[in-house]
Amino acid sequence: MAKNKKTRADFRKNRNVRVRKTNLTRDFDSEKFEEDSTVRSERISGKGELTRRRTIMTSQTDESEDSGDHLAVDETQCRRGRVLSVHGLHSRVQDEEGKIYGCITRRILKTLSTDQRHVVAAGDRVWFRANDDTEQEGCIERVEPRYGVISRAVRGRQHILVTNVDQLVIVASAAEPRIKPNLIDRMLVASEKGRVRPIVCINKIDLVSPAELEPLIGVYGQMGYDSMLVSAQTGFGIDSLRKLLRNRETVVAGQSGVGKSSLLNAADPALALRVQTVSRENEKGRHTTTASNLIPLTGGGYVVDTPGIRQFQLWDVIPEELGGFFRDLRPYVNYCQFPDCTHTHEENCAVKNAVADGQLDERRYESYLKLREGEFE
Ligand code: GDP
Ligand code: ZN
Repeated sequence: MAKNKKTRADFRKNRNVRVRKTNLTRDFDSEKFEEDSTVRSERISGKGELTRRRTIMTSQTDESEDSGDHLAVDETQCRRGRVLSVHGLHSRVQDEEGKIYGCITRRILKTLSTDQRHVVAAGDRVWFRANDDTEQEGCIERVEPRYGVISRAVRGRQHILVTNVDQLVIVASAAEPRIKPNLIDRMLVASEKGRVRPIVCINKIDLVSPAELEPLIGVYGQMGYDSMLVSAQTGFGIDSLRKLLRNRETVVAGQSGVGKSSLLNAADPALALRVQTVSRENEKGRHTTTASNLIPLTGGGYVVDTPGIRQFQLWDVIPEELGGFFRDLRPYVNYCQFPDCTHTHEENCAVKNAVADGQLDERRYESYLKLREGEFE
């Protein structure tokens, strides 16, 4: 099985040679979200310095690797499970029959892990050994290779929020609160960075005439993003949403009040009970934490309730990377006169020319400018 190999590589800085971002963007062009089998993600750490050091995650088939995910375990003694949440050294793991165990982690896994802050993260597929004496406890023996990792940098180290994410449902509301395309764009950037498939989901369409949303949806459609119009109130589009969530791990994100909980409850009424155990008053406090929590769905699959992701304050995309994460700008960035063009004020900027020619959506370009400035609605 292919697995992720993380390599820490030092790149010698050479001030005389200009580092062209075009190589980076070309990689992005040729990659698709889930089918991608070679380069998983390339993170550039160190703000503003593009050359020094990068952490590269690649899929590899080499057996002699050190992350411990191929650690021999006695599979007859172990069960497969999914990590629902991690609290310090303890994890909640659900087995294939749906039973939940409190697990510790085998010491060797911690020893083998050199580059990761978290040996075990929410979303991980694991092999664990159930404790003989107590039914509900166990020990994680092995962590399977990860994909769809959503992380953030904490003091230069990767902090994994959730793993094995199949898709990101970006929820916005047509009204109350009014739609904020800039916020959608920001989440799209995050999905590009995390290489997780995004779906733009516009709720509360009962409050507007759907035709009003067509121009916006049309632009996203042209870029190849899927979108859906729904209403938790009338039930419109809920069947499609339910189908979309089934047997997948989905991160649901969007501003507070857009109807994320209402939509999930509509898609899976059994969830209502569980979701409502978390009261509204608690929610403020929960926003300060970033701990992820996988919520099992009745029809199979999980939704991820991650306050930190929901708020989207964590995406440490550096300005130099941003153009590469705008799908529509990306094809133009190679054609600017200056390799380090910021597409803001430069002469002979292919991006600005494309906007002037009407080939690029002006609103998307403005969104790019705002995100570059670190401005969010
Ligand atoms: P969340 O903060 O994103 O989880 O949003 P909630 O699910 O708590 O919903 C916020 C408010 O929007 C509630 O008062 C809901 O009743 C309302 N709401 C949710 N979905 C719809 C919808 O489709 N149409 C209308 N008109 N109101 C909705
Ligand atoms: Zn440019």
